[in-house]
Amino acid sequence: MKRICAVGAGFSGAVIARELAERGVPVLVVDERSHIAGNCHTERDADTGIMVHRYGPHIFHTADERVWSYVNRFTEMMPYTNRVKATVGGKVYSLPINLHTINQFFGKSMSPSEAQAFIEAQARTDIQDPQSFEEQGLRFVGDALYKAFFDGYTRKQWGVEPSKLPASILKRLPLRFNYDDNYFNHPYQGMPRDGYTAIVGKILDHEKIEVRLSCAFEDLDEEFEHVFYSGPLDRYFKYDLGRLRYRTLDFEEIRASGDFQGTAVMNYPDPGVPFTRISEHKHFAPWEAQSFEKTIAFREYSRACEPGDTPYYPIRLLDDKVLLEAYEDRAAQEKGVTFVGRLGTYQYLDMDVTIGRALDVMESFLS
Ligand SMILES: Cc1cc2nc3c(=O)[nH]c(=O)nc-3n(C[C@H](O)[C@H](O)[C@H](O)COP(=O)(O)OP(=O)(O)OC[C@H]3O[C@@H](n4cnc5c(N)ncnc54)[C@H](O)[C@@H]3O)c2cc1C
Repeated sequence: MKRICAVGAGFSGAVIARELAERGVPVLVVDERSHIAGNCHTERDADTGIMVHRYGPHIFHTADERVWSYVNRFTEMMPYTNRVKATVGGKVYSLPINLHTINQFFGKSMSPSEAQAFIEAQARTDIQDPQSFEEQGLRFVGDALYKAFFDGYTRKQWGVEPSKLPASILKRLPLRFNYDDNYFNHPYQGMPRDGYTAIVGKILDHEKIEVRLSCAFEDLDEEFEHVFYSGPLDRYFKYDLGRLRYRTLDFEEIRASGDFQGTAVMNYPDPGVPFTRISEHKHFAPWEAQSFEKTIAFREYSRACEPGDTPYYPIRLLDDKVLLEAYEDRAAQEKGVTFVGRLGTYQYLDMDVTIGRALDVMESFLS
């Protein structure tokens, strides 16, 4: 019996391989990196002992009970609530924009209803049907808050004028008239005690699964019953129709003793600051953070992804969507291959969505 191949040892490839293996199907999981877990890879830093998220900070949050119980099969999830701060004009504010942010920013002590009326008076109600990110921001929070918290951050993150980005991006950002500073709204949130690589390792730990690292799919010389491909969609087709555009990230390492910034994530929306945020990784593990004498943090810079860079965020503007549709047509005609995951479908997918989609794909494949 020919094996099935899962290209990529991230959550997509691992969950798919496990579902197959549990039904007795042999699977080869191949990844060109030297480690499993894809972009969610975590490892203990040799010098400090701190669990570092190598490709940027990852916080697990979901409303999907099926996915929550799936990850809990493979790890102990520790309590963690993501609370993000922002440094704007030399002052520190609470995010997402909540009553504390509004009162801090405007130097007031308003009640929820007073703040709501205040923000409504600031909001650009003349913009009836916001089309762009910029219009959506101005419509929702008015000029001052939009400029301080969204405009510069977005320019740095996407390298695009906010007036050229779709309004849909900002629809997802909450504005709260209470002091709730939990960044996420989902009922389940946590951090895996031993990091994400340990979860993926356990998912892949099955006698029917072979994992081959530092090996590109293109270099394999084996015939497969089927391929689940979580690599870049355009790469599969040798970029025949052109390259789908991504943003990539550069991480500048900071090492210090004690506590560098006192919190896990500090955003820097000011346009004059070249990076978007600093993440200090011991704070992602509050249950052990005090035990480390040293600390490690990363300044995060966003830029256009060039050939050879790690693709992070799909850009998905109009031109990209046209190209995506052309590749999707090619993908639909390709026999024996299913394109999955964030790169295979050219979509930003949180981990819970990635796992949920992989389970769905397997449900329909196996039925
Ligand atoms: C900066 C950043 C922060 C994030 N933070 C969060 C967060 O806080 N919470 C959250 O839920 N989600 C977060 N995410 C999303 C999360 O990273 C994704 O959900 C997850 O990585 C998707 O898993 P995947 O398996 O689809 O892809 P990946 O993790 O990218 O895995 C794909 C793997 O395929 C391999 N590969 C590709 N092509 C080939 C090939 N041809 N041959 C062999 N191997 C190949 C790659 O090396 C890679 O290891 C974040 C994403 C980014 C970019």
